[in-house]
Amino acid sequence: MTEASHHDMPKDASASVVARHAAVLQELPFSDTRDFEEASRGFLGSIDHAKIMSETGRVVWSLEPYGFLSTADAPPTVDPSLWRQSRLNMHHGLFEVLPGVYQVRGLDIANMTLIEGDRGVIVVDTLTSIEGARAAMELYFQHRGKRKVAAVIFTHTHTDHWGGARGVLDGETLAKAGVPIIAPNLFMEHAVSENIIAGPAMLRRAQYQFGPFLAKGPRGQVDCGLGKSMAAGSVALIRPTDLILETGDRRTIDGVEFEFQMAPNSEAPAEMHFFVPRYKLLNLAENCTHNFHNLLPFRGADVRDALAWSKYLGEALQMWGGKADAMCGQHHWPVWGRDRVDTMIRQQRDLYKFAHDQTIRLMNHGLTASEIAETIKLPASLDGAWHARGYYGHIRHNVKAIYQKYLGWYDANPANLDPLPPVESGRKYVEYMGGAEAILDRAAKDFAKGEFRFVAQALSHLVFAEPDNQRARAMLADTFEQLGYVAESATWRNAYLFGAQELRQGMPKAPVRPPMPRETLAALRTGQLWDVLGVRLNGPKAEGKRIVLNWSFTDTSETFILNLENCALTYVAGAQAAEADAGFTLARSTLDEVIAKQTTFPEAASGGRIKFTGNPTKLGELMALMDEFPRMFEIIEPKRTPVS
Ligand SMILES: [Zn+2]
Repeated sequence: MTEASHHDMPKDASASVVARHAAVLQELPFSDTRDFEEASRGFLGSIDHAKIMSETGRVVWSLEPYGFLSTADAPPTVDPSLWRQSRLNMHHGLFEVLPGVYQVRGLDIANMTLIEGDRGVIVVDTLTSIEGARAAMELYFQHRGKRKVAAVIFTHTHTDHWGGARGVLDGETLAKAGVPIIAPNLFMEHAVSENIIAGPAMLRRAQYQFGPFLAKGPRGQVDCGLGKSMAAGSVALIRPTDLILETGDRRTIDGVEFEFQMAPNSEAPAEMHFFVPRYKLLNLAENCTHNFHNLLPFRGADVRDALAWSKYLGEALQMWGGKADAMCGQHHWPVWGRDRVDTMIRQQRDLYKFAHDQTIRLMNHGLTASEIAETIKLPASLDGAWHARGYYGHIRHNVKAIYQKYLGWYDANPANLDPLPPVESGRKYVEYMGGAEAILDRAAKDFAKGEFRFVAQALSHLVFAEPDNQRARAMLADTFEQLGYVAESATWRNAYLFGAQELRQGMPKAPVRPPMPRETLAALRTGQLWDVLGVRLNGPKAEGKRIVLNWSFTDTSETFILNLENCALTYVAGAQAAEADAGFTLARSTLDEVIAKQTTFPEAASGGRIKFTGNPTKLGELMALMDEFPRMFEIIEPKRTPVS
């Protein structure tokens, strides 16, 4: 083996990591195995290895690569608590929650819940992909007999809860209409918008959160905390036909009554809970799962409201406490028995409230985000509850999210007001610290002592100063790796291990970004399309340009003025400029086709589908000012291509 390839290989766990894992085994209640009983309770059957293929033979989902999780004891390279959660997330198949209520779990990161009505079945959430949803429905029919779908409910706006809708409702059923599709208020506004404006940055960052490019194994990706991994496959959005507007709203679907509770700005901007009196079933969507959820996922998002989140759980307890025989969520496994249900809701309510209140308390004493993360400790009653552990979110980054929500990125210390960016400050740090060799010598000593957090900070300066310094890269990779091995949070582990991999191997090659699908485009308001275009405008290139375009959409009866001025693209709705450079009249659906690259602007114009006045080349001039965003960009090292 050459030296270079040896550096590329994942290493063993260091002595300090092994010692930490031994302590974890003492600190946490591993003898409490109720989660394993509950995760397998009511099992009816599954698909071999939960393996789902697309029509073109692509693997959409499979638990086969996770066979290494069959041993009960954690290897030295995985935190024992995370190992336990990773094993719990291996349960897959169709499960009976209560007679008449079923769940498909482990065929996706999310769950599908199936509630039987008088004649048909009500499907709650449709997994990430059409292929996955189809496989879930087939599995259900196989065990419960063929039933017609009486309604679809989307609990909230994240893709893993609606992406597979067309695998539940085929085109024919949709064309006939009549099957209600029920969702929380403002569902369409939020279903796509959360990932639109900042989508390219989020997708790249999500690779660090979920670890899709990591090898699966004891030295690689083992889990995501919330479930195994992101699903592949085809995604399509279907517009809901019935929105739930208020807490206390009810619907009777196929003879079954549902009571709803609104939970906006909790785990998702639009989310809801419900209770089904017939089955005494409570479903708290994604707000009461078997982990401390994220208040701010690593992919990036609007900060979530921990206070509101806690209040919704308190309200759910008030509305339905003591009434539910089972509680299920749209991730993880259910819990049964009124005491167990109520205890879990109370603990989850207090988990978010404690994190919120204690963060603010420490903040009001003057502590900054990193100081709060270092100070705060969950009370023993929550720390020892398995479902409150930070497998996905973590107390140490959730408190920073709470700080950010109230005070933002600035810690009020002027030294941090205008720091040099990573490359420039890296060079100065290296110079001040006596050069690369001196840093590497000290780092090796601290590494041996297990001081990985500071070694990572110091070596990151060196990598930004000298990205081609192979010893620096290798030692930083080794350091990230130990931080990954010792992490209890799956998302921390993925982030550290992927950072290590990119230091050793460089960025993986990602396929070219596909154009935005038509259904997604159709879900966007025209104003949102202009906003997306606006963030692609290259400001410096637009210097001195002035372009005014009128738009008139025949199918939506909308008009717009699009205005480039001061290197900023703005629009006015419901108006036309008298002195526009050009005007375009077309169907909004034609514009969608152009954006989805199903046709081109000149092609649609020559086919008579776009009519124009004035000088149409002004549109080409505007579009020439738009940036294309790369699928990949450097994160743990300097940008190789300068961006301006
Ligand atoms: Zn989800």
